[in-house]
Order: sequence, then C-alpha cells, then structure tokens
Amino acid sequence: MTNPLIKIKNLHCGYAPGKPVLYVDDLNLAENEITFMLGPSGIGKSTLIEALGLINDTILDNKSSHVLFQNDQNQYVNLNELWINNKSELETFRRNYFSFIFQNNYLMPNLSAGENMMMTLLMKGENETEAKDKILYYMDKVGLVGDLFDKKVVHLSGGQKQRLAFVRAIASPFKLLIGDEPTGNLDAMTADKLMSYATQSIRDSNRSALFVSHDINLALRYADTILLFKFIKKDVELGLLSDSEALKREGDKWYHTSKEIANPHQLIMEGFLQSPKML
Ligand code: ADP
Ligand code: MG
Repeated sequence: MTNPLIKIKNLHCGYAPGKPVLYVDDLNLAENEITFMLGPSGIGKSTLIEALGLINDTILDNKSSHVLFQNDQNQYVNLNELWINNKSELETFRRNYFSFIFQNNYLMPNLSAGENMMMTLLMKGENETEAKDKILYYMDKVGLVGDLFDKKVVHLSGGQKQRLAFVRAIASPFKLLIGDEPTGNLDAMTADKLMSYATQSIRDSNRSALFVSHDINLALRYADTILLFKFIKKDVELGLLSDSEALKREGDKWYHTSKEIANPHQLIMEGFLQSPKML
C-alpha cells in the first residue's frame, strides 16, 4: 500500500503499564477508504480508537512502537510523540484531523440541536453563517426537518439525536471520521440509512473513515476493508489486530489473504467463534 493514512507497528494498548489488552503488530490504514473493525466485546476496539483519535493515552510505553498519521503536508506525525510531548499540539491535531461519532450521542440535553451542532463547527474554526447552512443541509440529508434546529435536545427521540451526532461529525472538517459503534443503539433500518449516507458523503469528499461495529452486515455493505480482531494467548490472553486478518473488497468480491471468499459473513463468524474467550 503506497502512502497509507495510518501506519502502526508493534503497538501495545492498555490502561496499565505491563498489562496490555491489545497488540497491533503491523497495520496500515489506506487513505480514501472506509474501514470497519469487527471483534468480540472486550477485545480492545475502543482502547485502540481512544489512542488513534487522541482521546485517551492508551498507548503503552514502548520505544520500538510507532503510530504514524499522514498530515495535510503528506508528512507522517507520530501520535505516540504527540501523546508524550505536547498537549496543545495534540488538541489542535485532534480538532483538525478527526471527527467522532460514539454510540451515545454526547449531545447537551438542555441546548438546542442547533447550538449543539454549531458549538463543534465553530470550535473547528468554521464561520457562523456557513456552519449553519452546512448543518441545515446535512440535517435535511439525514431526514431531519429544519424546525428541529431550535428544539432542545431533551425533547428529541433517540433516533433523532443519533442522526444529529452524524450531522455534527460529517458537517465539521476532518480527514478521518472515527465511529465507535455509531449505530449501536439504532434499529437496523435507521442504522443502514445513516451508514449509507455517511459513507457516501465520505467517498464523495475523498475522505476516510474508521468504524467499530458489531454489525457484520453493515460492514459487508459499506466497508472497503474489514479488520478482524482475535484473541491470542501470549503470556496472557491478548487481543490481536493485524493486516494479515484483513478482508478486502474489490468490486463486489471479498478477499482474505489474497484469496476470494465465497461467504465472508461465515468467515468472520468462524473467526469469532475460534477466539478462546468465546469458547
Ligand atoms: P471493546 O471496545 O472491544 O468492547 P474495550 O476496548 O472497551 O473493548 O476494552 C478492552 C479491555 O480493556 C477490556 O478488558 C476492558 O475491561 C478494559 N478496559 C476498558 N476501559 C478501561 C479503563 N478505563 N481502565 C481499565 N481497563 C479498561
Ligand atoms: Mg467498545
């Protein structure tokens, strides 16, 4: 892969020194692609997202590891060094390069929908009039009427709030959209519609996305690459994420270790079932 967006080597993630929960041996994330990460609960998906999205320093100290992100000047920035060295640079980097959607919408209940959306866009340096136009445009695209702009979030349904979380993320500037179970609380049809719109809009604007999901069908419908986590037994039981476990789409066919797979759904399920924690 030439010039990946993210290059990871020999990375241990976790919450306490000497107690890794996840190991990434060698992984490249392509630019202008939609990547889904699938794996059983507790394997370290959110732990990795926290590190990559500069949300929480879950990179365990290891001098020989690197997590490189390609910036707008086509230079690779080592996220590990951002974590260690420079808090304000880290915050600026997060604002400039990432947008987030989580399973819980993280909207302020007593502010209006519009105030919630505007806050993020203005913080990212957007001009007020343009920000509002953009938000109304994207609200319309995800099926939210403009009247909702001035309604307090506390009066909205769960589905409306999660649509707003998508709008906020897509309308603001980013290079990589990061979603951690972004449709986890939605019914299957709403989840599909939102994911369809989000992925299309990312493709149209030549940007990239990394989604964690439990939903194999959504991944097979909208991903270019599916990364599979599995549990391995090293000294202790550990999650592993590796390029060698990736599924790649070409046209409407899926490939694993360069071989075409007739039934990718089954292959993914079998991978989960072989995981020691699932037995
Ligand atoms: P996933 O997102 O794949 O369901 P997580 O990344 O949330 O899994 O969790 C991976 C492991 O790290 C689990 O064993 C979990 O209990 C542990 N873990 C998660 N968050 C914390 C935390 N804040 N402090 C300590 N351990 C945590
Ligand atoms: Mg999680």
